[in-house]
Amino acid sequence: MDKREETQHSNLQEIEKEILIEIEEIKSLDLLERLTTKYLGRKGILTTFLRNIPKLPVEDRPSAGKNANLLKVKLEGLFSQLRAQLESVAENNNDFIDVTLPGRVAIRGTLHPVTRISREITAIFSRIGFEIAEGPEVETDYYNFEALNIPKYHPARDMQDTFYVSENIVLRTHTSPTQPRVMEKVKPPVRIIAPGKVYRCDSDVTHTPMFHQVEGLMVDSDVSFGDLKGTLSTFIHQLFDEDISLRFRPSFFPFTEPSAEVDIECVMCRGKGCRVCSGTGWLEVLGSGMVHPAVFENVGYDTKKYTGFAFGMGVERLAMLKYGIDDLRKFFENDMRFLRQF
Ligand SMILES: [Zn+2]
Repeated sequence: MDKREETQHSNLQEIEKEILIEIEEIKSLDLLERLTTKYLGRKGILTTFLRNIPKLPVEDRPSAGKNANLLKVKLEGLFSQLRAQLESVAENNNDFIDVTLPGRVAIRGTLHPVTRISREITAIFSRIGFEIAEGPEVETDYYNFEALNIPKYHPARDMQDTFYVSENIVLRTHTSPTQPRVMEKVKPPVRIIAPGKVYRCDSDVTHTPMFHQVEGLMVDSDVSFGDLKGTLSTFIHQLFDEDISLRFRPSFFPFTEPSAEVDIECVMCRGKGCRVCSGTGWLEVLGSGMVHPAVFENVGYDTKKYTGFAFGMGVERLAMLKYGIDDLRKFFENDMRFLRQF
């Protein structure tokens, strides 16, 4: 071996020695990648050595090339062996469960304000002896209108923007169809409330195409308008508070006679007049009345023997007043920032 050949050789030996020290320190795939690039990459130390071989004296080239290539093969073997080791360690780490880590806290949901107030309303009426009844949301024209004394072409049909499924099938426009459905099956006394979804072809700040109503019906011998006033006053006082005033205003519904709208003292300004009550001090919250004899006749109740009252209310409206919400659409946007407040 002459001197030049020795220099080449010792250069390669030094490179190899250095690599073997560095490789001991490699504990991650990232570091291994870096080491690989450092020696075998496009501008790597060994790559550069190989590229420079043509610049060596002719007689040195063969041995330099041979030794460098041998080292390259050796390194590739070492690196791939180490890579396999590190990969298997990383994989095992993923399976490792550290039982001492603190647990992840599950995010608890809250009840939707409409659900909350519906439950509150039904709880109040349950306490005073009303049972809960349910009816279909896809309803026949008969139960939605005719059984409730609203024949075809009756002007009262214009009061409700109905979604028609077909000529005789509608999405119920109110929860009132539950009344004739129940009365057809049960003899008086009847005391029910019917909560549920209703649909109207209407959408703006104060109207949504779907909303919730609670309907109430009481039928027995000697049920009077006084019973209606007593029941609804009890309900309003329990839902809001004892001191709130109510007033009954004459109104019209085809299925009740006489009919009355129920106003309560504005819960925001306590009757002084504000934006919510349009300065009147009163808020309309319920429709009610004594059941029209024509409705009883449709279900075969003896109108000489029985009287009754019915009422209906919008659930979202009551929730808005109770929780101080100013936009109806917030109930249906599913914005978590809004819903988490309840
Ligand atoms: Zn007010």
